[in-house]
Formats: sequence, C-alpha cells, structure tokens
Amino acid sequence: MQRAVVLDLHDDTTQMIVDEKYNLAEPHNFGQVDIPRMRAGHVSGVFFSIWTDSERYTPVETIRRSLEQIDAVHRETARHPADLAPATTAAAILDARKRGRIAVLMGVEGGHAIDSDLAVLRTYFELGARYLTLTHTTATPWAGSSGKPADHDGLTDFGREVVHEMNRLGMMVDISHVSDKTFYDALEASTAPIIASHSSCRAIASAPRNMTDDMLAALAKKGGVVHINYYEVFLDSGFSDRFKALQAEQALEDHLDASIPKFGDRGAAGPEERKIDARMTARLGRIPLSRLLDHFDHAIKVAGIDHVGLGSDFDGAEDQFPEGMEDISKIPNLVRGLMERGYSDENILKVLGGNTLRVMREVEQVAARTR
Ligand SMILES: [Zn+2]
Repeated sequence: MQRAVVLDLHDDTTQMIVDEKYNLAEPHNFGQVDIPRMRAGHVSGVFFSIWTDSERYTPVETIRRSLEQIDAVHRETARHPADLAPATTAAAILDARKRGRIAVLMGVEGGHAIDSDLAVLRTYFELGARYLTLTHTTATPWAGSSGKPADHDGLTDFGREVVHEMNRLGMMVDISHVSDKTFYDALEASTAPIIASHSSCRAIASAPRNMTDDMLAALAKKGGVVHINYYEVFLDSGFSDRFKALQAEQALEDHLDASIPKFGDRGAAGPEERKIDARMTARLGRIPLSRLLDHFDHAIKVAGIDHVGLGSDFDGAEDQFPEGMEDISKIPNLVRGLMERGYSDENILKVLGGNTLRVMREVEQVAARTR
C-alpha cells in the first residue's frame, strides 16, 4: 500500500458536496468517501463525477447543474489544501502524491451535459474535467445508451465528432453506460485508448451496462482500461433480482428525488434516502467480497493485467456494496484478496492505479500530437 498509486475513477460524492454541504475533511458514518477514509484506504486520487439526472433536467438545466458541481469540487478542494490538490494529468497526480496530497479530478457523467455543443464540451475540459461518459441511462441525440433503447443505437456522425474533439483535447472517452453498438462505434472512432470508468463483467452478472468478454478484449486491444464497479447490483444477478423486488423502496427514493427542487435548497432528500438505503441493506445483506474479486479476476483474464483498474461508484449506488468494501477505506481488503488469488505485487500495483496513469498519459500524448 505504501508503494501503490491508488486511483478511483468514479465517485458520486459531488452531489452531497453541492446539496448537503458535505465536508470532505470530516469523518462520516454515512456515504463512502471523505478525507479520513481516503487516507485509511491509501488513496492517491479520485475522479469526482459531475452527474445530472438526464430524465428530470433539460439539457440547458444540466449545464447549470454541471457548473454548480464543478464549482463545488473546486471550492471543496481549495478548502482543504493540506489534504487535497486539484489535478488534470497523470504527472499532476504523481506530484500531488509526492507532496502528500490526494489528487482530485473530475469526469462528466453523461453526454447530455454538453447539449450537443462542442463549445460546452471544450469548456468542461478547460474547467478540469478529464473524461466524458458518452451517455448516462438515456440516449443523447448522438449516442445510444444501455439504459434505454433509442432510434439510433450507436454513434451518429456528430457523436464521432465528439469523440474526435475529446481525442484532440486530451479528454478520456468513457463508455460506461453506453449501448454495445455505441461502445464499438466509439472504439472505432477514437484515435486514443478509451476507458470504462465504472463497469463490471457481463459474463458474471448480466446487467446490460456490464461489459461482455468481446468488449473487454476489444477495449484492451486498443490500450484501454476497464475500471471495475463495486455496486452489488452489477456484481451479482441474484442480488440484482432481490434488489429489484424492493419496488416500494425504489419508488420512495424516486419520489424523494422528484420532490426536491432542481436547484437551491436540495438538502432534504439525502438523509431520507439514506434511511431507505439502510433498510434495503438490512433486508438484502451484503454479498461477499469474493464476488467483487471474481470480476477483477475475470476482467484480468479476458482483458489482461494491463487493462483493469478501480471504478467504485461510491456514493452513487444506494450504499449497496460488498461486505468488506463498504467504503473507500477498505481498499486494503481488495489488495489482500488479490494477493490471496496469487497476483504479484507488481501486477496489483497496475490494477490499483498504474494502468490508469498509463492510459491517461497515452490520451495526453494523442492530444499533444493532434493539437
Ligand atoms: Zn454511473
């Protein structure tokens, strides 16, 4: 752990920072990410997700909400300069680590946030975002989602333009959440390796937004990295079925989400939703850590040891995480599990963050060549 560069590609803590004045410096008995727990987990850097509900907010409202979140990440990072440092490159992550700081990065989750406008995409990049997930759970006018079928299943011509502009800027193309066709189209269009920021293996759990073996192999062939998602619903089909059966609880969460205003005073829903999450956890229990390790194992077998990383989905998955991975402080448990499965120290270091640094550098180099 002392040697490791530990990077987590997807944390949804941003919502609590904006809506509940969540202070990263304080230890919390809820949520999964704060500075004390990142320190306990030996974390070197996190990507905070800039996410807006694509079904409730219009695209223009999504831009406002995205700016609020980016501003909140900037302010929260600046508020804790002894612990956090803003970063946008692989070199800056290593520099922060050398100075004993945790690097804070951002990814925009969902192409709807650009409102089909490359100027908005470029502005997110200028503000520090270093990946764009091409879709969330609904299609954009230019990319299909795994969440809902659309007229166009893959990338349109404009969708390919988005990918090319990201290549030119040095912004990672993220295919978590997209339809299979969009994945293959993005892989073909991109001149840089692409990533899955938080996706698991469909061969083990049949969620449509998990990656098939063919997708894992194709992603790796182009130098990409799949960052494994820890959300139990994506790890275990049995858990997923039991979770989906709790419809009343889900409906209650949806109602709470819809009942708070789109902007401004949004603090009321979080504590109530966490009560529902706790009730669900009490009923469902937690699946064993070995199930999460199965996904790492499988992805490494299919994609290769150089193409797998961490994409927890912490603070974005109703507190449904495996036993022993309840929050970001538990990363040493993952390391122990990988050691017990026979992985060498060098290979574990790659999965913890080495592979992510490598793919970031490659994306940066492609941009340097294209500019
Ligand atoms: Zn997501």
